[in-house]
Amino acid sequence: MIIGKHLVAGNWIGSDASFTSSPAHGPSHAFAVGTPALVDQACQAAEDAFWSYGYSSREDRAKFLHTIADEIDARGEAITEIGTQETGLPDARLNGERGRTVGQLRLFAEHILKGEYLDTHHDAALPDRAPLPRPDIKLVQRPVGPVAVFGASNFPLAFSTAGGDTAAALAAGCPVVVRGHSAHPGTGDLVAQAIDAAIKACGVHPGVFSLIQGGDRAVGQAVVEHPLIKAVGFTGSLAGGRALFDLCAARPEPIPFFGELGSVNPMFLLPGAMASRAETIGAGWAASLTMGAGQFCTNPGIAVVIDGPEAETFIQAAVTGLGEVGPQTMLTDGIAQAYQKGRDVIRGTSGVREVLTTTCDLRNATPYLFVTTGADWLANEALGEEVFGPLGLVVTVKDEADMLKIAHSLQGQLTATLHMEDGDTALGQKLMPVLERKAGRILTNGFPTGVEVCDAMVHGGPYPASTNFGATSVGTMSIRRFLRPVSYQNMPDALMPGDWAG
Ligand code: NAP
Repeated sequence: MIIGKHLVAGNWIGSDASFTSSPAHGPSHAFAVGTPALVDQACQAAEDAFWSYGYSSREDRAKFLHTIADEIDARGEAITEIGTQETGLPDARLNGERGRTVGQLRLFAEHILKGEYLDTHHDAALPDRAPLPRPDIKLVQRPVGPVAVFGASNFPLAFSTAGGDTAAALAAGCPVVVRGHSAHPGTGDLVAQAIDAAIKACGVHPGVFSLIQGGDRAVGQAVVEHPLIKAVGFTGSLAGGRALFDLCAARPEPIPFFGELGSVNPMFLLPGAMASRAETIGAGWAASLTMGAGQFCTNPGIAVVIDGPEAETFIQAAVTGLGEVGPQTMLTDGIAQAYQKGRDVIRGTSGVREVLTTTCDLRNATPYLFVTTGADWLANEALGEEVFGPLGLVVTVKDEADMLKIAHSLQGQLTATLHMEDGDTALGQKLMPVLERKAGRILTNGFPTGVEVCDAMVHGGPYPASTNFGATSVGTMSIRRFLRPVSYQNMPDALMPGDWAG
């Protein structure tokens, strides 16, 4: 059952104003609007909780993470029901995403038990070293303190209330204050109930988790500006992320803002690959581009190809594949409107040809495909901006040199993809050093949608893909965002953190 309130340190609290959810289908529900006063209460409780939770054993935190996963699974059917209503995503997607969400929680539980993430180092004392003795120095990673998390509209479970940011912070030993996404407040409510139950079952300090629902932008601003918050995890738009990032930097004590923002995820189609399988790549691209109505941060929005008959075969295959996809419901009315606006910008840019026209209205998205030349792409900055939805842009270039020019001109990306055969190695070797400087993940002969949650994953990249190119928001390395290295010099063991024993 939806409670419709905020969870603050173990208590469900209402507020004077309420907002109503806008589900894609099914009933809407009323939710209490968040306030800066509630944010303050949650942050104070998180700080209180830190003095026990931040010093808890890894075993206790692992048990807590497993219990949250169990409690989410126990509410699985209800979560899928409200999640599909609020987002318009199908049952199978919500069920799959729940599997990923509990999988992430369990992965972090196992990860902290191994202890490698603590990155411990010991430079033992050298009392006889000349000309000066060396002191004994130990290094351990420590949790930063209370962390604020902004859920993402496009992953109501895996990147939201108990998603990757929350799991990584809790695993590190950081209490979490979630600013609920107003696109799926009911899903957030049920997941918060699961976390609340896990807190009670494990006897954890209740301030370790709070959910403040939205309905007012002042809530997000209050949370990033709160002096007790020490880091922020965010997934969303470039505009929203940049505004919050700037607020973090302008605080009297600036804090890190780990924002995962926009990306067009370019694909480079090399001549050998085009000669042998242009049609297959075109069909594969259409499938990747339309998965989940194109509402993935890794959606491959741009394909760069050398002009010629193979490029035409590729475009025709993409048109055929995209043309078979009907209207899909988008996550929110606002996202649907932004999609249509983005399409209109591309449509209105000089040198752009529309090769697949469809009609979409209201909260529906249908695919679009546009073609432009390398010269026009380079001349129009707007063509390099993300259109969140199932829209593709093919950039045809004259030759390899032009392809390299496009690569050099790219902004920071979450991913870049090469489609290549053995004969393309020389061109691939020219592109790779450029793409390494542009993207967090580089793929060959695949599509970037579908981000594996594992140790080797980087889901981040230079700005504007993310606000912190040293970090990832997916995979076990994402715990690093909420840790801080501390050196302990000539420290007696009795004063070392419990984690040092490892
Ligand atoms: P968003 O508009 O950036 O919102 C994300 C969260 O931040 C929401 O909770 C929002 O509040 C809050 N917020 C945004 N701007 C704020 C501000 N100036 N002050 C305080 N809080 C603020 O992103 P979205 O709603 O998820 O989707 C909108 C667009 O974001 C999409 O069209 C797409 O372009 C992009 N997007 C990108 C990704 C990605 O993975 N890179 C994922 C999803 C969306 P409310 O809840 O009140 O809206």
